[in-house]
Amino acid sequence: QVVTRIAPSPTGEMHIGTARTALFSWLYARGRGGKFLLRVEDTDRARSTPEATEGILKGMAWLGLDYDGAPVSQFERATRHAEVAHEMLASGHAYKCFSTQEEIEAFREAAHAQKKSTLFQSPWRDADPASHPDAPFVIRVKAPRDGVTVIADRVQGDVTIRNDQLDDMIVLRSDGTPTYMLAVVVDDHDMGVTHVIRGDDHLNNAARQMLVYAAMGWPLPVYAHIPLIFGPDGKKLSKRHGATGVAEYQAMGYPAAGMRNYLARLGWSHGDDEFFTDAQAMSWFDLDGINKAPARFDTKKLTNLCGQHLAIMEDAQILSEIDGYLAAAALPALTAAQKERLEQAMYCLKSSAKTYPQLLEKAEFALNSRPVVPDEKAAKALDPVSRGILQELTPQLQSVSWEREVLEETLARVAQAHDIGFGKLAGPLRAAFAGRTATPSVFDIMLVLGREESLARIAEAAQ
Ligand code: GLU
Repeated sequence: QVVTRIAPSPTGEMHIGTARTALFSWLYARGRGGKFLLRVEDTDRARSTPEATEGILKGMAWLGLDYDGAPVSQFERATRHAEVAHEMLASGHAYKCFSTQEEIEAFREAAHAQKKSTLFQSPWRDADPASHPDAPFVIRVKAPRDGVTVIADRVQGDVTIRNDQLDDMIVLRSDGTPTYMLAVVVDDHDMGVTHVIRGDDHLNNAARQMLVYAAMGWPLPVYAHIPLIFGPDGKKLSKRHGATGVAEYQAMGYPAAGMRNYLARLGWSHGDDEFFTDAQAMSWFDLDGINKAPARFDTKKLTNLCGQHLAIMEDAQILSEIDGYLAAAALPALTAAQKERLEQAMYCLKSSAKTYPQLLEKAEFALNSRPVVPDEKAAKALDPVSRGILQELTPQLQSVSWEREVLEETLARVAQAHDIGFGKLAGPLRAAFAGRTATPSVFDIMLVLGREESLARIAEAAQ
């Protein structure tokens, strides 16, 4: 069974790159009936915060990346990590190193002076345990000094690292706490992770982590180190390029399905397919489709895909995501009455907006209540002549049956009688209903608002 995981460090906002790694891992597992796990790598106590962990959980929930079981805290597994360090010690794959900071510094300086590798070589590597002093020690893994380590990576191909570039890394510190390098391997092993999909900034770590697998005789996972995300200028995506945090994208009102689709395409492709559903992504996603070159973040593409997804999303999903968007953007929540009307209006809104702020802008007629206060442009549409026409319209709309075809006929007739184009009539009506000039069609608005409310708004605007 395939088991993948996302293993973020809770040291800041959840980065869009973490979201993409999570998405790839989720798609890979879900498409194969496997498991997808979440591990919070909170071993760095100084930098980890509960707020950042909260942000990760929220980001995962927003993106709909459901994981199996409860999130695992790496920090809470410290005892197990230490146990493995001691097992490696007992089997001779690791050793106690008593070198002090000063001794290590001195080694490096001397090596530097002699133009030799400054990677520390501990004198305790082959020392007789009988000679061990009663002093603090760290546990180091015995790394091979000759030959090469080959990472058989599914994205990068075979990556060869010379072993003389690997030092005897510390797995357990002198205070008994495990290092990150050890914790990752023990956790992945214990959690049954079969495929490690992560950013290629971890590629070098893989070579060192493989030492621990070898020392413990554990089977290696399949590695897939994916290229980082770049900004439009071809440099690593950062704040300079704009938003980098998952929460920021929710606060900008991108629908999660569009975000998933876009992130899936960011560094992975399936033929010429740009727009696809989760089900398609799950069945298509494969490590072979991951590009070796870094992908560039393109907000326009993201926005366009979001529009396509909004058009086909379930209304209930849209409504619940709007709640999340408003909360994330620190905007007031919708009232029950607003939600009800928004739901009735959804059919005419969802195919003409790409993001939630755009949708809500179009939904103004459904969200506002009387008196409708026109914005500057709309106010201009309510000139005296137009107000006169609106007044005339009222008795006609009072008697007709409230159906699209009939309303269309009625308005066409009135426009004709005044020898004006339909636009000249629609403008004042939009202003009356929504206080805006960009709205759904006036017929959709009238059908959603109903006769009574429509006439009341026309009457107010016509005064
Ligand atoms: N905690 C690491 C990070 O946030 C990920 C480590 C891994 O995936 O193995 O970059």
